[in-house]
Amino acid sequence: MSFVSEFNALALPTLVERSLATSVAAARESSARPSLTLADFAQLISPAAGELLEPMSRRSQMLTRQRFGKTIRLFAPLYLSNECINNCKYCGFSRDNAILRVTLSVDEVMRETRALAAQGFRNILLVAGEHPKFVSNGYLAECVAALHAEIPSVSLEVGPMETEEYRPLVAAGADGLVVYQETYDRAIYDDMHTAGPKKNFDWRLETPERAYSAGFRRLGIGALYGLADWRYEALCVAAHADYLLRNCWKAQITISLPRLRPCAGEFEPLTHISDRELVQLVCAFRLMFPDVGLVLSTREPAKLRDGLFPLGITLISAGSHTEPGGYTGAGKENIHQTVRGRIVEAGASEWATPTTGHATNATGQLNIADERSADEVAKLIQRLGYEPVWKDWDTALSI
Ligand code: SF4
Repeated sequence: MSFVSEFNALALPTLVERSLATSVAAARESSARPSLTLADFAQLISPAAGELLEPMSRRSQMLTRQRFGKTIRLFAPLYLSNECINNCKYCGFSRDNAILRVTLSVDEVMRETRALAAQGFRNILLVAGEHPKFVSNGYLAECVAALHAEIPSVSLEVGPMETEEYRPLVAAGADGLVVYQETYDRAIYDDMHTAGPKKNFDWRLETPERAYSAGFRRLGIGALYGLADWRYEALCVAAHADYLLRNCWKAQITISLPRLRPCAGEFEPLTHISDRELVQLVCAFRLMFPDVGLVLSTREPAKLRDGLFPLGITLISAGSHTEPGGYTGAGKENIHQTVRGRIVEAGASEWATPTTGHATNATGQLNIADERSADEVAKLIQRLGYEPVWKDWDTALSI
């Protein structure tokens, strides 16, 4: 049995209705419980609970400090490749987008890694589009092994694989795997993913379990807010996290809360979650899951991030680039343009990153909102009275 069976049996429409119809008193009751059910979570993300944001924030902050101390961990995404065989309507790397693409060599990956290490990062998330030719397992294993010799914590956000395909990556030193379902609404999922292996909803939904069987000890999940109704998505993420906590109990679970950002293809969000609702959602996740890591990326603007850090967030990216070679300009020589998956003569793309300073002109996945450097963000964390943590894990600790 996998999460798919449990997911199919969830009474999701009832839970969403319950959330929309709940009263402030019922939401207050749920928020005070020491241990919450999915029905309580539905109350916490209700419009009525919006009136309880202050007490919910206080409780969320208290729980986070109790479980994680006054610390915020930092990580950096390192994009290996923006080649992709999938068409996801909301993503700049979609196969059919005419963008500038490149796959970094292992040497170029290490140039990027050392630039990030010089900024202080010891926790790196390797990101790549799904393309078996450019981003083969052998290539990924080589990248992980090279990185792991210098970086203690290496995670992956790449196309889903079979358990047996994951094992060499774990052996090479990867300890974390991040896979967002994007949307848990089957009909919207089907509409958003028009071509490529990503069309298979269930296969993606079972990915964290396959990764766990292969030995990954950090599992990251999440929905991309802006596709289906946010309350529906949040309920599904909560159910998924609850399942993983029960069934993959040796792993640390993290939940990300990405909202759609502008990208090549100019996709417009189908739904909206306001800043205030995002704050409510962070608090609701914390109250439901006191020990789960909550992740916030540079997709969100600086001011909102600064306000959210003390409320329940435990892991953040900073100073991010979403184009391969973005930190050093590595890989510039090999950039090519693709149209409908085929390489064509290089030309201008309105989404190409300008070639100023160290920037490469491969196209980024999305436009980030918080453009501060990692150092600026770390100093801000200190000003808030928190400790920025660059390294909190070493394989030696697990032996
Ligand atoms: S979301 Fe992932 S799979 Fe889809 S186009 Fe972008 S990189 Fe490819």
